[in-house]
Amino acid sequence: KNLHAEASGKSFEQLAEAARTDWNSELEHFEIEGTPDQKAMFYTSLYHTMINPSVYMDVDGSYRGLDHNIHRAEGFTNYTIFSLWDTYRAEHPLLMLMKPNEATDMVKSMIKHQQQSVHGLLPVWSHMANDNWCMSGYHSTSVLTDAITKGADVNKEEALKAMVVTSNVSYYDGIGDYIKLGYVPFDVNGTAASTTLEYAYDDWAIYKLGKALGKPESEIAVFAKHAMNYKNLFDPETKLMRGRNEDGSFQSPFNPLKWGDAFTEGNSWHYTWSVFHDPQGLIDLMGGKTGFNAMMDSVFNVPPLFDDSYYGGVIHEIREMQIMNMGNYAHGNQPIQHMIYLYNYSGEPWKAQYWVREVMDKLYFATPDGYCGDEDNGQTSAWYVFSALGFYPVCPGTDQYILGSPLFKSVTLNLENGKKVVIKANNNGEANRYISSMKVNGKNYTKNYLIHGDLMRGMNILYNMSATPNKSRGTQDSDAPYSFSNELGK
Ligand code: CA
Repeated sequence: KNLHAEASGKSFEQLAEAARTDWNSELEHFEIEGTPDQKAMFYTSLYHTMINPSVYMDVDGSYRGLDHNIHRAEGFTNYTIFSLWDTYRAEHPLLMLMKPNEATDMVKSMIKHQQQSVHGLLPVWSHMANDNWCMSGYHSTSVLTDAITKGADVNKEEALKAMVVTSNVSYYDGIGDYIKLGYVPFDVNGTAASTTLEYAYDDWAIYKLGKALGKPESEIAVFAKHAMNYKNLFDPETKLMRGRNEDGSFQSPFNPLKWGDAFTEGNSWHYTWSVFHDPQGLIDLMGGKTGFNAMMDSVFNVPPLFDDSYYGGVIHEIREMQIMNMGNYAHGNQPIQHMIYLYNYSGEPWKAQYWVREVMDKLYFATPDGYCGDEDNGQTSAWYVFSALGFYPVCPGTDQYILGSPLFKSVTLNLENGKKVVIKANNNGEANRYISSMKVNGKNYTKNYLIHGDLMRGMNILYNMSATPNKSRGTQDSDAPYSFSNELGK
């Protein structure tokens, strides 16, 4: 039936031509003025962002659900391949910006998954009527809140209920201990610290949606409290996140460069920045902006350990970090990919502009080995697509995109609603990577972030680029992007 519907009566050449036309019409959502290499890299990345998630149903809407019964998708297209530990960061937000109808159907698919789950869990890694439980966190909560914040037309009460139920499955990956102690204990769970940081952000996403739906504090205050659980792991001595044991003591011995231990696929230097929803809170923990910026700078200076025994063997992510030559900035794996943008919260946005261009220029090539690690279902590509445009969604669930450094002289985004976002960068070039000033819709713009709703209404963004940083632009507290601490007035 599928073959008949999609291919009946058509030759191979006709089908190939139809596929070519489909791909071109997708890629044409971005019109770029750049070098041939830049275009090849950009469109290759764009292509990667549109392979997965993938449609998972027959032409009549029937599909095998997580409960292994046959369901029918009514009023939506069912999707699978949700590699959420990777893709909540930028892949899903990119789809929500450029393909909101499909992104909305993905959210509906996630809610169905939760309703079909014997555990009542939203997808962790949805894999064709299964969950393969790969990696950690319940990052569907991030995707749901982000989509709803940006206008996805879904059943919001069902979404919130799915999120709340998920966060209370006490036997899943340390959740019971996390609820009891405020962290997943290191002596009980092998990925305790990274999982705690991820749950804290995921719980912020639940709070955010509950608040948006007008739920009483008595129902949602617990999630606001959990959103601050990252503080339970902060070690004032090293100014880094550190595993904590069930009795409250910190993990000891502790080597912040060592991969593994309390962190999955990374070390403390990579994960300390995983406070997407509250960079200001992290700045405060590190003693203010000066201390925070010094720690940020150190990420690029602290050389990676070359002791290959510390993860029980060399995983490819370790080898990739060693050969990238950016200290402990391990862009080949996902946990650190938002970190550069945090300079926008700490009064030194020009450092984000410098480093984001270093990564685009030195770690992305349109060659068979052109990615610096696993591409991972669109995430590492979505990082590039956003970064090349000049902004990135550090905290999905807010409506903000945080500024970096635009790669092209000009880009036009043709949005699904018919509006256009026109981005121009005067005097742009490899050395001229700093934003000296910018205008939005003709008016001088000092903030370090753009707002989703403004983009959707159509927008003209004009960057004036320079080879020397403007150290007075975007440095006021009022220019900094969202932090939960600021929302709470703490
Ligand atoms: Ca990865």
